[in-house]
Amino acid sequence: MAIGVQTDMATPALASFGSDKVKKEFLAPTITGDKVACLGVSEAGAGSDVASIQTKAVKQGGDYVINGGKMWTTNGFQADWMCLLANTSDGPAHRSKSLICLPMDTKGIHHAKRIDKLGMRSSDTAQIFFEDVRIPQDYIIGEEGMGFTYQMIQFQAERMWAVAAAILPLQAIIQSTIEYTRTRKAFGFPILNNQVVHFTLAELETELELLRSLLYRTVALYVQGNDVTKLASMSKLKAGRLAREITDKCLQFWGGMGFTNEVLISRFYRDFRLVSIGGGADEVMLSIICKYMDTLPSPPKLK
Ligand SMILES: Cc1cc2nc3c(=O)[nH]c(=O)nc-3n(C[C@H](O)[C@H](O)[C@H](O)COP(=O)(O)OP(=O)(O)OC[C@H]3O[C@@H](n4cnc5c(N)ncnc54)[C@H](O)[C@@H]3O)c2cc1C
Repeated sequence: MAIGVQTDMATPALASFGSDKVKKEFLAPTITGDKVACLGVSEAGAGSDVASIQTKAVKQGGDYVINGGKMWTTNGFQADWMCLLANTSDGPAHRSKSLICLPMDTKGIHHAKRIDKLGMRSSDTAQIFFEDVRIPQDYIIGEEGMGFTYQMIQFQAERMWAVAAAILPLQAIIQSTIEYTRTRKAFGFPILNNQVVHFTLAELETELELLRSLLYRTVALYVQGNDVTKLASMSKLKAGRLAREITDKCLQFWGGMGFTNEVLISRFYRDFRLVSIGGGADEVMLSIICKYMDTLPSPPKLK
């Protein structure tokens, strides 16, 4: 999670749209590992509906003065800087936001709490408040008012990362379940000998290969410069669902051992629950796919 934020969540927009100044000050040391980044998009009152964030960055002299707060910030306590999405004008929701590089040692930044979570328990997740936080205006990424658009583009990298980061652990879960059920016996035979067990593992392996192929195709199109919003959303949706299915079905075959903290499967069962929520919930992925399929209902006409 920490590395994924650094490489594919907080930095893609900076790399694509940032000025030389912000790239030198924030991107270069992040690539070398000298600075830790975090992404401040979600708020206590706005997660799925990114357009409704309330944090404001108001121009004063040559500075922005920032007030508001962010929730669920991965790396939040350790980060040296935040890629912050804030409202920089009162215009229409999709044109009023900007992405700004915010040094995390600036006066007025308060780390309110480390969030206690079901899974990803070794990941640092913070709630943060901003009180008259003052930073230079040239810490903006790209053009003012383009932050929402940049963030929607940046989400594509995050979603592909989420899929890529899931594939090898999911493969390892299937493999370790094969090994465990081959040695564990019930009714005189290895548990793996039951057709329901080895057929289920074969189904899961097949689904995982399909996900891998979808990811490779999506990434290949992405590196050629194509808009992969639909395919990245499909990949993320499928990864979230498959991760839940693989961890749940494999855990079952571990019996009581699967319910203990002595084996990794129970941790994966908890950790992978996040894929269907973080970076846009499954339902948000479905809405995006529907938009690209042109199947979203039109808003009702007012009489
Ligand atoms: C461990 C963790 C780490 C995170 N890290 C970061 C981070 O580093 N930076 C950051 O900015 N954010 C981060 N997030 C936030 C994450 O992106 C949000 O949790 C996610 O976008 C969902 O927002 P929400 O939690 O506010 O859920 P809500 O918006 O309250 O939605 C709740 C549920 O409602 C349903 N729903 C929502 N919209 C629709 C719809 N249109 N149709 C049907 N159903 C719908 C979905 O089932 C959704 O799960 C993190 C979250 C977690 C849990």
